[in-house]
Amino acid sequence: MQPIEQFYPFLQQPFKAVITAHQKPDGDAMGSSLALYHFLIQLGHDVTVVSPTNWAPFLDWMPGTDKVVDFEGNRAKATELVQAADYVFCLDFNILHRTKNMESVIRDAKAIKILVDHHQQPDTPSFGYGISDVKMSSTCEMIYDIIVQSGHSNLINLDIATALYTGLMTDTGSFRFPSTTASVHKIVAHLKEIGLQHAKIHEHIYDQSSEGRLKFMGNAFLNRMHVFPEYKTAVMAIPKTDIYKFELKTGDTEGLVNYLLSIHGIKFAAIVIDREEERKWSFRSKGNFDVNIFARTHFEGGGHANAAGGSSKKSVDETFQDFKNILETYKSQLTQLN
Ligand code: 5GP
Ligand code: MN
Repeated sequence: MQPIEQFYPFLQQPFKAVITAHQKPDGDAMGSSLALYHFLIQLGHDVTVVSPTNWAPFLDWMPGTDKVVDFEGNRAKATELVQAADYVFCLDFNILHRTKNMESVIRDAKAIKILVDHHQQPDTPSFGYGISDVKMSSTCEMIYDIIVQSGHSNLINLDIATALYTGLMTDTGSFRFPSTTASVHKIVAHLKEIGLQHAKIHEHIYDQSSEGRLKFMGNAFLNRMHVFPEYKTAVMAIPKTDIYKFELKTGDTEGLVNYLLSIHGIKFAAIVIDREEERKWSFRSKGNFDVNIFARTHFEGGGHANAAGGSSKKSVDETFQDFKNILETYKSQLTQLN
């Protein structure tokens, strides 16, 4: 993989490109994709954002989402776009299987793949150019840097600012995680100068719950939460029946795992959700407990040191039991956390 700077000269020549991100794109995946889209179209390129799957309805307000092609919803069109592209920009993921059923389409495409990502252990041989930096708060921060470093900060308009802020905000837990550096705040200051309406964005993302979602959360705290103070761990196991009963939609469980870390003394939080095709785990931690390694070692996953995900093909009860058994082996490490 060549450094991203080597790609900058090609920004001057017209090209066809697809921008994609990980499946079930979150605020950072969608924000970085749309920011890059609104940047590249100003340079005259022929660009389409293709998402591997659908996304949470609370992202639908973002400028440009109406033009995003959902691969699962329109495979023929999405495949045609990828096959015709000169470049495929891969944002907020670093290994092609994170695009789920789109993996082979991207792998087999003639396009040069360009990586912009902040997760651990990138599969760099899959990409022609790129940048991978785990110290970055978000992929949106990296897209901002690319626009500025390539000499185009004058092109940052309100659409770009809005998209970038969404990812900066969601990936930093509203500017509270340790990844929130001075650079992050400087970027936000710049975006504010352009006219960014930050309060509206918080409302769009965080104040869209259905009544069912709040009832689901109430039920989850009351009946699905297990706290193990001796391991400084809290975990939730959500059966499919809850998903149906409370009529949950994509994205409705996002953020739930973070509440577990708000319990006094809890340093490691986990949630497993019974999805159609697999049991999906989310892991969060405070301090030195590396959930990226935990997810990789035990649940075929990965992510960041303090936020990672994984999966299991077993039933919810079985994978939850596995988790408890595994937890036992981490007892001394977990009790030493402060
Ligand atoms: P979440 O728990 O919010 O789904 O994911 C937390 C972080 O871990 C995100 O940065 C996400 O991209 C990453 N992640 C989630 N699931 C997986 C997975 O199965 N594999 C890998 N490599 N990363 C994941
Ligand atoms: Mn991200």
